[in-house]
Amino acid sequence: MSELDLNSLYPEELTKIVEELGEKKFRSKQIFEWIHKKQISSFDEAGNIPKKLKEDLLNKYKLAKTEVVDCQISKEDGTRKYLFGLYDGNVIESVLMRYHYGNTVCISSQVGCRMGCKFCASTIDGVVRNLSAGEMLSQIYSIEKDTNEKVGHVVIMGSGEPLDNYDNLIRFLNLISHPDGKNLSLRNVTVSTCGIVPKIKELSQNHFQLTLALSLHASSQEKRRELMPIANKYSIEEVLGACSEYFETTGRRLSFEYTLIQNVNDFEEDAKELANLLENNMKNFPSDAHINLIPVNPIKERNYESTTKNRSLVFKKNLEKYGISVTIRREMGRDIDGACGQLRRRHLEGKNLS
Ligand code: SAH
Repeated sequence: MSELDLNSLYPEELTKIVEELGEKKFRSKQIFEWIHKKQISSFDEAGNIPKKLKEDLLNKYKLAKTEVVDCQISKEDGTRKYLFGLYDGNVIESVLMRYHYGNTVCISSQVGCRMGCKFCASTIDGVVRNLSAGEMLSQIYSIEKDTNEKVGHVVIMGSGEPLDNYDNLIRFLNLISHPDGKNLSLRNVTVSTCGIVPKIKELSQNHFQLTLALSLHASSQEKRRELMPIANKYSIEEVLGACSEYFETTGRRLSFEYTLIQNVNDFEEDAKELANLLENNMKNFPSDAHINLIPVNPIKERNYESTTKNRSLVFKKNLEKYGISVTIRREMGRDIDGACGQLRRRHLEGKNLS
């Protein structure tokens, strides 16, 4: 958001604003709680805040807006895919997944993405803008309100590259774990990155207890470059070096995302090469790494096909021979536009046609 939204501010920043407006300091705690605990979408709901203060605040600042434009509900597993409208007319996607351990929300960190991964729909038209911390939080709050259910886990795996929006990401992490707000343990938060090396290093210095997921998707530098342009900037060894350092500094095991694409990166030799790659580049192999295999969700703009179930299982077994912990991600909401950025693209295409 270009102008500051109140949802993105730390309590001490709100205090400063409230005092500048000639009001008492304690009002800032009340406002923070209205936004982050009671999750208001309009100041009309904030009963104990003086009308004059609300007006003064709204003259200069905004409340972040994520309004439900569309919501698809999977008949198979209850997954809900939301399309939210922002204050400037842009739209973003978020997904609610229901697991046995509770509700997980996958949020977007940018409108679009500029990383250019070949199999991803979010990046086709590039990035439009960063999301503010408040807009990231608001996706979660809107879903809690819409379903009247609590969200216990958050994954930043929707559209956008969170480490390309680093300052807002840090704000988001501090706010979501704030004791006066939602107070979510960062152990329940996963940040997924395509591998921006200096930012991974910077993040490790914060000692957050979050899970870092690296989108690896290939077993060698050469193959990674074919799928992910970011590999032209940082080599696979540099990225894994930063991941290894992340584990040493934070004690948190890395999660490697590997999208299985039929006849592209799913051969037996790929599994072998991948295990060797991790063994050679991770200092505490295999205890510092977990691999998450994701059958690619085909998008119509590309010809990639998903690896068969059998081949995925063989790939998994081959990795496990090296003592690596491996899971195959359950495909949630297969009957709705599940893949990153697909719902938004369809929405924008529909607009262009009409
Ligand atoms: N930019 C970040 C986070 C967003 S993408 C990142 O690269 O990690 C979240 C995950 O979904 C990444 O692992 C990404 O590679 C994967 N992904 C994107 N499009 C996909 C598709 N069509 N099928 C399967 N996985 C996909």
